[in-house]
Amino acid sequence: MNAERPWETPDSEWRARVNLVRAGRRLVPGHWPGGARCAVALSFDADHETFEMGAGRAAIGRLAWGEFGRRRGVPRVLEVLARHGARATFFVPAVAGLIDPAALRPIVGAGHEIGVHGWIHENTSRLDRATERDLMLRARDALQAMTGICPAGHRAANWDLSAHTAELVAELGFAYDSSLMADDEPYELVCRGRPTGVVEIPVDWSRDDAVYLLFNRDPPTRPWTPPEAVFDIFRREFDAAFDAGGVFQLVCHPFVIGYRSRIWILDALLSHARARGPVWCCTHADLADWVWRHRDG
Ligand SMILES: [Zn+2]
Repeated sequence: MNAERPWETPDSEWRARVNLVRAGRRLVPGHWPGGARCAVALSFDADHETFEMGAGRAAIGRLAWGEFGRRRGVPRVLEVLARHGARATFFVPAVAGLIDPAALRPIVGAGHEIGVHGWIHENTSRLDRATERDLMLRARDALQAMTGICPAGHRAANWDLSAHTAELVAELGFAYDSSLMADDEPYELVCRGRPTGVVEIPVDWSRDDAVYLLFNRDPPTRPWTPPEAVFDIFRREFDAAFDAGGVFQLVCHPFVIGYRSRIWILDALLSHARARGPVWCCTHADLADWVWRHRDG
C-alpha cells in the first residue's frame, strides 16, 4: 500500500491485500451437543508478565500486575468455571508458561484447553515469515512439553496478524485460529483464495474485558467502564447468540477480570446463561471440531 497516498494504490495491489485472508463459508451447525440451544466459548488470555515484555518493556510494576494474573486471577477464574461446570480455553504465551510451568497444572487438570498465544506475546506483524514460523513452532512445542498436550489452536497476541499468519496456522496443522473478526459465527479461513480447512472462531473487541477494564497510565486512556455496564454488554451478546442458536465467544484476561470487584461478571454471566436454557460450555478446540464435522448441517 502507498502509505502516504493510499488512493494511488493500484487495483491489483489492494485486491491482493484484501484477498490475503478472507472469511470462507460460515460454519453454523444445525444443532449442538446434548440439545443445547447455543455454544458458550469462553477464553482467557493468560498473558501475565508477557503483556509487558511482548511490548519490549519490563517495568517492575507492570510485571507484578502480570504476576497477579497468575497468582490470583487464574485461581479465581478456575473457581468460577468449576462452580458452573464450564470448560474453557486458556491462550498462553510460551514465556508466560515457562515462568512457572506448575501454574498450568490446575488449568489442564480441570479439563481446560491450552492454546498457542505467541512466544512472548510479540506483535506478529513485526516478524518476517521464517521468524514467525519458528516462534509459532517453538511456542507450540514449549506448551506441549509443559502440559503433555499438543495445542490445537492459535490466537495471535493482540490479534495482530502478519500477511503470513493464517497460512502458517494452516501449514503447521492447527485445527483453528481465534484472532479474526469477520463474522459472529465460526467460518473457514480462506488464504489467497484457497480454503484452508482451518476453522476461525471469531473474536471481537466488544467481547473483550480489556477494552473496558484495562487501565493505562501513560498514555492515559479512557476511564474504566463500570463492571455493571461490562456485564450488560456481555449479557446482551450472549442473549442474541442464544436467540440465534449460535456461538457466544468471550475473551477475558486473568489480570483484568480476576479482581474482587470484577470476577462476579463471569459468575453472573454463567448463571444467566444457564438460567436461559441448556447451553454448551465448551473449549475452542471442541467447538472447532464440532462445527467442522457438522459443516454440511
Ligand atoms: Zn494476549
